[in-house]
Amino acid sequence: MPSLNYRCYAIPEISALRHPLILGVTPPPQCPHSIDKKPFAYTMMGGEGRISLNLHRKLFHIFIVLLTLYAGWSCVPSDQGSAGTNLIPKSKDTQVVILGTGTPNINPRRFGACVAIIVNGKPYLVDFGPGTVQQASAAYEAGIKALAMQNLTIAFLTHIHSDHTAGFADLILTPWILGRTQPLRVFGPPGIIAMSNHILSAYRRGIRMRIEGAEKADPSGYKVFSEEIKPGLIYEDDNVKVKAFPVKHGAFQYAFGYRFETPSRIIVISGDTIPTESLIANATGCDILIHEVYSMAWFQSHSPKDQKYHASSHTSSLELAEIANRTRPRLLVLTHQLMQPEETEQDLLNEVRRHYKGKVAYGRELNVF
Ligand SMILES: [Zn+2]
Ligand SMILES: [Zn+2]
Repeated sequence: MPSLNYRCYAIPEISALRHPLILGVTPPPQCPHSIDKKPFAYTMMGGEGRISLNLHRKLFHIFIVLLTLYAGWSCVPSDQGSAGTNLIPKSKDTQVVILGTGTPNINPRRFGACVAIIVNGKPYLVDFGPGTVQQASAAYEAGIKALAMQNLTIAFLTHIHSDHTAGFADLILTPWILGRTQPLRVFGPPGIIAMSNHILSAYRRGIRMRIEGAEKADPSGYKVFSEEIKPGLIYEDDNVKVKAFPVKHGAFQYAFGYRFETPSRIIVISGDTIPTESLIANATGCDILIHEVYSMAWFQSHSPKDQKYHASSHTSSLELAEIANRTRPRLLVLTHQLMQPEETEQDLLNEVRRHYKGKVAYGRELNVF
């Protein structure tokens, strides 16, 4: 397995701190269906009014229970595509969980780029954009037990852009604080070792305090084993073979897509890229192709200068339809969607489907395929 610059990094010795570290606690991601618990105002008073009041209260409670059941059901990860139908048969050993579809454009309903491929209960993350750990926790609470914090031990990075890496510190530290005892293994382009080292250096006092203070945290779970990769087979175990292939993303010298071969599925993740022959070669005949995309209206809304940048960095809906026609995946999943605010999921699906007749899903946070 070709790889470059393998390195284990551990923090240097420093003196113990005198002050406790206070971690910011972020609330769990808000379910879009959560119930607004505003106080209910009763207006009826008096004798008969009390009977009516009790009846109203009971009806209200029944309503709340039904609404809660609906909200809970709606927030459970679904293996259904955006059209509400099963788009690909379930696999007995492999699940794909979309943790984040986001882009640098901030959106409170979307999280940074991350996909979890789970094989025989072991998760393999691709990218770690902002919110990756929160989303793993949300998927765990919704029943994807493989995404327990202590299981987050291996990740693959497509490229160094912040919308794919801003969750890195969280991925290094939070699962460790919550019980991970193995170091995190990360495979990625040149720059990933420096990024690992700088994050650990920035947090070295807090890490040391957790290990040497009253917490007595595990002395290994915070460590990062980073590998800077070349195209080709970069990782293999009993569950998966992972191949990296080069893609073209603006001025990046190193940006990768990944091909996962599991016992029952071939899954290809494009990363950020314009159409490339390397992706065509690796995705042809795959089971699931998870590909970035922008809408034509979004592209046309930009200045010529911005259009030039995006045309050299990303893939349009029309280009993606052509890629899908050439590669023929069993299921195409759209991600990293760049669209106008007024555009709907269906608008983007329609653009792709106008030129591609295979199965397409609009990737959403916590979709499971
Ligand atoms: Zn991106
Ligand atoms: Zn990018």
